[in-house]
Amino acid sequence: MILTIMASFAQEESRRISENIKWGKRKRFEEGKEDMVRIFGYCHTSDERYTISPKEAEIVREIFYRYVHGETRRQIAADLRERGIKTYSSGRWRHLLIDRMLNNEKYVGDAILQKTYAENHLTHKLVRNTGELPKYYVKDSHPAIVDRHLFEQAQKILKMRNVKYGNISYPYGEMLECPYCRKTLVHGSLKDISCAGNRIHNGGWGCYGKDGFRKYLVIQIFLDDAVISAYSKKHGIKMEKVDFYWLDYFIERILPGENDVSVIWKDGETTVAKMKFPKERFLPSPFSDFYNSYLERIRSGKKKNKNRFLMGLEVCENGNNESTGENRG
Ligand SMILES: [Zn+2]
Repeated sequence: MILTIMASFAQEESRRISENIKWGKRKRFEEGKEDMVRIFGYCHTSDERYTISPKEAEIVREIFYRYVHGETRRQIAADLRERGIKTYSSGRWRHLLIDRMLNNEKYVGDAILQKTYAENHLTHKLVRNTGELPKYYVKDSHPAIVDRHLFEQAQKILKMRNVKYGNISYPYGEMLECPYCRKTLVHGSLKDISCAGNRIHNGGWGCYGKDGFRKYLVIQIFLDDAVISAYSKKHGIKMEKVDFYWLDYFIERILPGENDVSVIWKDGETTVAKMKFPKERFLPSPFSDFYNSYLERIRSGKKKNKNRFLMGLEVCENGNNESTGENRG
């Protein structure tokens, strides 16, 4: 009996303390303070503010810079491992850690407060706050490691490379316009397609309808070459490859045709560059016919779909306007 009373007293006490902590925490959040969690790039000081740890901050900046300049999370993680750089927990660099860092608003000097909270007063287990309690977004709450422009470019690329948002749209995003109907072209994987011994990498961009690619589907490698040559026509510099950071900086819109590409620059000028196709049937219209008949054979069961993310198929199956790609960054 006494034991039961003791236990329930302890339970009540625990609940009360937990509530107090929660309340105290919330008050601190409202004042713009927050519990300190160890974050790579920052060290803690007694006044509870984030202080930059210069050596780690250098690595953080490098990660953002490389990601924005076209490297994938996996490539960056592999390189950091190879160089023997330690994470804060002395663990291995993995692409998921890089992902968390790229998504962390702390590096731009902001803070989302109360991302987690103690689930209940008995376990004190921390759970993610998915709207049960208020969240606070504090801008410029502490010194930034990466500048806002770089951070925002990284956010755009994360979104472009995230299959959850539908088709992967890296690197052109919504810049490409269908020459026939002016709809924005979407990206898809063409990994299973190999024509006349040529492996087609990097997918293509097509005018997307629920029946597949109506009339227009351009293979990305040929488009890339033309955009690069438009850039060197205008700026006199040959870019190594097409990356979002420079497209975003210079280009307003791209209008690909059957043989050429018109690049409309942010300064209002237009440059036209030829697309070179090794064979007639790689041109956008014939290729979309070819590809549509390929999809048709898969749909009718005459051919096996080995690639789950094959462009165009998911749309038919779900009847919605989304597709997926496998080209995860
Ligand atoms: Zn179209």
